[in-house]
Amino acid sequence: MKLDPYAVFFFFSFGLLFTVLEITRPARPLKYWAVIKSDLIALALYELLFFPASLYVSNGLVKPHYFFLKELLELPLPVRVILYYVLADFGTYWFHRLMHSRYFWRVHKWHHSPTYIYWLAGIRATFPQQVLFNLPFALCWPLLRQAPSWLFLAVLAENFLRNDWMHMNVTWRSNWLEWLLVTPRYHHIHHSDDPRHYKANLGSLLTIWDRMFGTYVNPEEVGELSFGIGEIGSPVRLALGV
Ligand SMILES: [Zn+2]
Ligand SMILES: [Zn+2]
Repeated sequence: MKLDPYAVFFFFSFGLLFTVLEITRPARPLKYWAVIKSDLIALALYELLFFPASLYVSNGLVKPHYFFLKELLELPLPVRVILYYVLADFGTYWFHRLMHSRYFWRVHKWHHSPTYIYWLAGIRATFPQQVLFNLPFALCWPLLRQAPSWLFLAVLAENFLRNDWMHMNVTWRSNWLEWLLVTPRYHHIHHSDDPRHYKANLGSLLTIWDRMFGTYVNPEEVGELSFGIGEIGSPVRLALGV
C-alpha cells in the first residue's frame, strides 16, 4: 500500500509537536513506553487497513452532487470552505451520537477503550465507525470544487491536527476557545468512564451542537477524570467493531 508522503509528514510533525507539549505540560502522568505498543498496532490497523477501506466504501456510497443546489456551489470559495466544515461537523455530531446508542455502540467502543489519553490514543476507529464518519465529509466534498491544491493539503493537515489535538494530554482553562471549538479538556470528558459523562461533549470540531442538542458538559464544572469502558473485551472484537 502506498502511503501519501504529505500524510506521513503531517503525522510525524504533529506527533512530535504534541509529544513535546505533553512532556512539557502533561495533564496527567503517562508512561508512554507502557502504551506505545498497542497504540502502534492500532495505528497500523487504522492507517493501512480501516481508513483506506472506509474511504473506498464511503465514497462509493455517496453521490455528492445530488445533495447540493447549484447555487451553493457557485458561492465564493471561503464561504464554501466554512460551509464544508460546518455542515460536515453537524453530520459527524449526529453520527457520533448514533454510535453512542445501544445498537451502534459496539462499532465505537474501540475508540473509548484506552484507560489513558494522549495524542495517539484517539487513533482507534473501526472500519464501520470510519465509514460513518466519512459520509458527511464525502457529502460535502463538492463544496471544495475548483479549490487550489494547497487548500486540499490544508484540509489533510487539519484532519491529522484535529484528532491529535482533541486527545492530547495537555489541558488548560480554555473557556474562551470552547465557545466555538472543541479543546482537549472538552473531548477528554467525552472519554470519561463516569456514567454522568456518557454521551457528553460529542462534538469533534465545533461545540455549538452539544449546546444546541443537550449533550454539553461544561469542563469548568468537572473534576478529575479517569478513562476507559470499564470492561476488558477481546481486542480483536473491539478493533473489528463486532
Ligand atoms: Zn464517542
Ligand atoms: Zn476521542
